[in-house]
Amino acid sequence: MFEKVLVANRGEIAVRVMAACEELGCETVAVYSDADRNGGHVDYADEAYNVGPAPASESYLDQEEIIDVAQRAGADAIHPGYGFLAENAEFARRVEETPDVTWVGPPSDAMETLGEKTKARSVMQAAGVPVVPGTTEPVDDADEVRALGEEYGYPIAIKAEGGGGGRGMKIVRSEAEVDDALESAKREGEAYFGNDSVYVEKYLKAPKHIEVQVLADTHGNVRHLGERDCSLQRRHQKVIEEAPSPALDDELRTEIGEAARQGVREAGYTNAGTVEFLVEDGEFYFMEVNTRIQVEHTVSEEVTGIDIVRWQLRVAAGEDLAFSQDDVEIDGHAVEYRINAENPATDFTPTPGQLTTYRPPTSIGIRLDHAVAQGDEIGGDYDSMIGKLIVSGEDRAHCLERSKRALEHFAVEGVHTTIPFHRMMLDDDVFVAGDHTTKYLDRELEDDA
Ligand code: ADP
Repeated sequence: MFEKVLVANRGEIAVRVMAACEELGCETVAVYSDADRNGGHVDYADEAYNVGPAPASESYLDQEEIIDVAQRAGADAIHPGYGFLAENAEFARRVEETPDVTWVGPPSDAMETLGEKTKARSVMQAAGVPVVPGTTEPVDDADEVRALGEEYGYPIAIKAEGGGGGRGMKIVRSEAEVDDALESAKREGEAYFGNDSVYVEKYLKAPKHIEVQVLADTHGNVRHLGERDCSLQRRHQKVIEEAPSPALDDELRTEIGEAARQGVREAGYTNAGTVEFLVEDGEFYFMEVNTRIQVEHTVSEEVTGIDIVRWQLRVAAGEDLAFSQDDVEIDGHAVEYRINAENPATDFTPTPGQLTTYRPPTSIGIRLDHAVAQGDEIGGDYDSMIGKLIVSGEDRAHCLERSKRALEHFAVEGVHTTIPFHRMMLDDDVFVAGDHTTKYLDRELEDDA
């Protein structure tokens, strides 16, 4: 096992990773920006190093500085968390090439392939995994897009090759919208991901977002830990995630899990990853692979009892996955609520400020992944997450009942939060029945407008 791990991240995920390191007997190194001098992750770590001013581009994204700190601190591994440099194949390669430092993540080659969505789609097709109907090559020209619109039928989506989180994705409802959509998808792709290359997919009207958690070691073992249902979304961003999915039967569950394993094998992937699918009318279609630990990994941990971050570290250190696919059992139900400093009443605008009261719920079935305490400032420099509330129960109905209690006893003052929104969802018939699709909330919001 590693002796000292540098965690190239902040907030709750940095603490989550350090917790796993500690349990494995590794020392921990935090990095922080000027804005995070008093950050929870700095307190938690054995050592901490300042890596620059508040803007992420000058601190958490400064590859050279972070690798330099790892060397100065004598760290023998770097874990990137999620966001920031986590899916940056160039950074992964630089870490791989740094003597005596191990990258806790997939091989940079696999990250590069899967990070380009058309390449990822080709790999999955080669593995026999159904993909969303669309192109496996970038598309450049509006006439080509119109021909594809004709072929698949509208709506179609023009998506940035490097995109994610709904960014760089434009929905095209008719031929007349093609020119504008193509131009703005390219523009967003360039602005957010430095890549103006785009491709075209059929746009499914009311799918479920189902993703499979995988773990792969460097000895050819690939396991999946079942699926998560992330269908509750606002503008293509996940709001509530759960495991298992209320929408899958056992047959489809097994099929999707096996497809994810095949795809990951084909890509030469190791470490933890997520294979994302859209599911509609009993059919599933590959969408993309996230080559990192995800925000919502927690719900899979709760229902399988498997510590995914611990396995990321063990696999990176060369260990075998010590359990078989049959050993993975799904027990009970878990739901994750993202507690953000945002005001649901004003379209979820971020509301930075001081947590004058912060008293999270306790007792059976509740897990909190956070890195804040009462009196802390939720700044405006990074995302607006305060923490994640993860609730487990014997089954979905029990879990939702328990969630009501947990959210009711979650006291936060000083900033607006998403708690009232989550409480509202627990009284929403469609969500409670598990019938919501990825389009459900946006349609609702449109109706309200
Ligand atoms: P991610 O957020 O997972 O990185 P994307 O930006 O590709 O990835 O997709 C975000 C969300 O956009 C999906 O969860 C889904 O709700 C929606 N979406 C993406 N592609 C399609 C499609 N072809 N049809 C319907 N919905 C889609």
